Amino acid sequence: MIEPKGFIQAGLALLFVMAGSPAIAQTQGRIAPAAGLETIQVRENVYAIFGAGANVTAHVGEDGVILVDSGSTATAAQLVAAVKAISAKPVRLIVNTSADMDHIGGNEVVGATGIEMNPDLFADEPHATVLSHESVLTRLSGDDKISSELWPSETFTSRVRSMYLNDDAVMVYRMTGAHTDGDTVVLFRKADVIATGDIIDLRSFPVIDMKKGGSIQGELDALNRLLEMTVPAMPMVLKEGRTLLVPGHGRVSDYAELVEYRDMVTTIKDNVEALIAKGMTLEQVKAANPTAGYRSRWGKESGPWTTDMFVEAVYSGLKNPVKP
Ligand SMILES: [Zn+2]
Repeated sequence: MIEPKGFIQAGLALLFVMAGSPAIAQTQGRIAPAAGLETIQVRENVYAIFGAGANVTAHVGEDGVILVDSGSTATAAQLVAAVKAISAKPVRLIVNTSADMDHIGGNEVVGATGIEMNPDLFADEPHATVLSHESVLTRLSGDDKISSELWPSETFTSRVRSMYLNDDAVMVYRMTGAHTDGDTVVLFRKADVIATGDIIDLRSFPVIDMKKGGSIQGELDALNRLLEMTVPAMPMVLKEGRTLLVPGHGRVSDYAELVEYRDMVTTIKDNVEALIAKGMTLEQVKAANPTAGYRSRWGKESGPWTTDMFVEAVYSGLKNPVKP
């Protein structure tokens, strides 16, 4: 697990020595809290903002601000302040990694501070482009309790949607069917940062929301694809390079932690599979404690995503696998 402060200070110290850049050295990695949210600089032009519901990743540059997720509605004004504290440029693009309210809740308020990627000269009210997988729009528009102001303005269904913004290749990958049927991850290829959405939730076992099309098979596939995209550090060589991961929830992380998370999910899946092969019912599988060894670190006995709910999702996913 990365301690962001230590890592960033070490990283910036090295950058300072190498590039002699006082502007970077002065940032110290941790930005003064804006409206109660915590912002950490993870790369020269990439920031992770914590405390607004889901983690929000901000990529800044000449074209404006790209955000991955927009947090909760209740914290939208705080997020606007936190984004203004890192860049004076308008928000141009918000990518939603799922249809969860703590990821899309700021779309309206935060988006209203920005302008489209391709500005519409005739629009009365400019608004940042909000991009997601099509399933996110389907979910949101199918729920009358959710205002249409929160809907994405642009959707895609292809395996990857890529664009060049802020002098970086921004690659939005479809990873649907893991946490939900609308999952995407965003790779900033030059910055070498991936915003993973809730495929990685470091607070708990991964949330496999079966009601919204998530599955254990999809979750494992997504974690394995993320591993292919993530380059580890080389411990014996004095190089700073490695891919950094901003999870949907929890601290900034890297390859080593992703391997651990993937192995944990794989082991539990194998355990449940072996218990099913013995003919056990769900109750018997739960009683056999298939998360042993991981439960104290990742398990929750109460709250929105308990160990029992995770085991149940794994069990049902293995009993009734989703056809791709
Ligand atoms: Zn989330």
